Amino acid sequence: MKRPLVLVFAVAALAFCAAEIYLRQQTSTADDSAIFAVKLPAGFEVYSTSAELILPLHEKKRPIRPGDWLDRFPEGGQTFAAYVQLRNQKPSRVDFSTIYVQPLGEFDETQQKIVEQTADFMSIYFGIEVKTLDPRPLGDIPETARRMRDNTEQILSTWILNDVLKPQRPLDAIAVIGLVTCDLWPGNLNWVFGSASLSDRVGVWSLHRNGDPHVGVAEFRLCLKRTLKTAVHETGHMLGIPHCAAYECCMNGSRSREESDLHSIEFCPECQPKIWWTCGTNAHDRSQKLAEFAALHGMKEEATFWTRQTALLAK
Ligand SMILES: [Zn+2]
Ligand SMILES: [Zn+2]
Repeated sequence: MKRPLVLVFAVAALAFCAAEIYLRQQTSTADDSAIFAVKLPAGFEVYSTSAELILPLHEKKRPIRPGDWLDRFPEGGQTFAAYVQLRNQKPSRVDFSTIYVQPLGEFDETQQKIVEQTADFMSIYFGIEVKTLDPRPLGDIPETARRMRDNTEQILSTWILNDVLKPQRPLDAIAVIGLVTCDLWPGNLNWVFGSASLSDRVGVWSLHRNGDPHVGVAEFRLCLKRTLKTAVHETGHMLGIPHCAAYECCMNGSRSREESDLHSIEFCPECQPKIWWTCGTNAHDRSQKLAEFAALHGMKEEATFWTRQTALLAK
């Protein structure tokens, strides 16, 4: 039986986003110099012009520290032109149109708010319809898919992908994202923030390690922000976008919570055009709506950033 390509993107041991199997196929080969020489096809000036407008706002990748993702996995990144060359048929938009968010298991009112706001944010971020499906119980979890670790019950992430999400995946799904509040483990590691199968277009992510959103306003915002970052980073992978090495960017790989918390929530001038093009999103309107979302949800730093980016894109 052919095993799906299961990506573990965050592990307790270290690897926060260990999409390395996939990424090594897509980037960081000895032939990167050839990829970087790729020129954009004619007609793509609209994207490169907008990308140049936002350049002043985006910080180049900071020096790599020992233990960082790029220290461990020296990936070369991918230009917008290289992405276009690889995906010039826009396959994810030809047959698939919708991102589905599927809450699985128990969610209290506060956690439900995180789910709703994550779905809202993703629909703005990608300019794609995001539908939140009715919550589903995890049902009868087989003994082999559950265990106790440090007095916490963990559920096997690959069981959720293969036995819960995949069989009910809608035909038009770009991706089905299962959200859970329980802790996850992938079978071969102690725990994970989540797992995704690119070939099957299903992923599952847990709120369990994003901080306790019940404690107060600041903790809720931190949990929300971490969940939003994971959601757009992993959906970026599902749109074929590999890790970024050029800028401080939400598509940077992370090996720890600390490293992830330092990354921008926004895509950089190399990665953002990939969304504009693949999803058919208007760069200015997207940025403006993101500024409004951030302001509405008390994300002051991000609201300022997106307001400035919107102003640059209005030129
Ligand atoms: Zn990743
Ligand atoms: Zn980037």
